[in-house]
Amino acid sequence: MGSIQLTGLVIFKGDPGYEEAIKNWNPYVDVSPLVFVFAQNSQDVSNAIKWARENEVPMRVRSGRHALDKNLSVVKGGVVIDVSEMQKVSLDRKNAIATVQTGIHVGPLVKGLAREGFMAPFGDSPTVGIGGITMGGGFGVLSRSIGLVSDNLIGLKMVDAKGKIIQADQSSNEDLLWASKGGGGGNFGYNTEYTFKVHQAPKTATVFNIIWPWEQLETVFRAWQQWAPFVDERL
Ligand SMILES: Cc1cc2nc3c(=O)[nH]c(=O)nc-3n(C[C@H](O)[C@H](O)[C@H](O)COP(=O)(O)OP(=O)(O)OC[C@H]3O[C@@H](n4cnc5c(N)ncnc54)[C@H](O)[C@@H]3O)c2cc1C
Repeated sequence: MGSIQLTGLVIFKGDPGYEEAIKNWNPYVDVSPLVFVFAQNSQDVSNAIKWARENEVPMRVRSGRHALDKNLSVVKGGVVIDVSEMQKVSLDRKNAIATVQTGIHVGPLVKGLAREGFMAPFGDSPTVGIGGITMGGGFGVLSRSIGLVSDNLIGLKMVDAKGKIIQADQSSNEDLLWASKGGGGGNFGYNTEYTFKVHQAPKTATVFNIIWPWEQLETVFRAWQQWAPFVDERL
């Protein structure tokens, strides 16, 4: 092996913890990576990228393990760079801005912000990772009123393909921020931190379910399509 060392919590195939590390939300994962790197900071991510390049093995990034495709965030014989141990959140209350490490799940993030009186459209399934949902757009029950997760992304820290740690926001690498919000149709690096605009939560909210019988599907669907685009966006 070459000059670059893996840093963070490193688990090679055969090490204790490997069988746990390989598990994802999708139980049909059927490839075995060479090594998992549980990064503790952006430098660990950078070292792992450089190591993968030096040793000519493929790499993947993983946050909340909720990839729907079974082998999206794991790779045969390669390095899985997992950021799930990076979970720090800081809130700038005055400017309503949250800076979030990419390893946190949306559930604890939503709950933590709610305790401070803020909300953000982080999806409806608490165990999904903020790392992946943001890059996929991110749809949730608040999307009508405050947009997709990616609409609220105002900055990110990323490790690029060469292992360089870069920042993208409205004043530096604006094109990369734009691309990371869906403009480029893909991922451009391994993200370690997102900065989001957050919103003052209302004092009260109402949650309800309406269930129609299956036989009424067509009628209900047609009515919903005519009604949904124009109904009050707080719904
Ligand atoms: C039960 C369930 C409920 C869901 N509910 C919703 C929902 O309400 N709304 C919605 O919009 N989506 C939802 N999704 C889809 C979910 O947003 C995507 O599957 C998303 O990619 C999962 O992100 P993750 O970090 O948990 O997954 P991972 O498996 O860790 O990552 C999946 C992919 O995301 C990308 N990615 C992850 N972390 C990073 C990172 N740090 N930097 C760069 N790219 C990264 C990579 O391409 C990676 O392969 C749901 C999925 C499941 C399984």
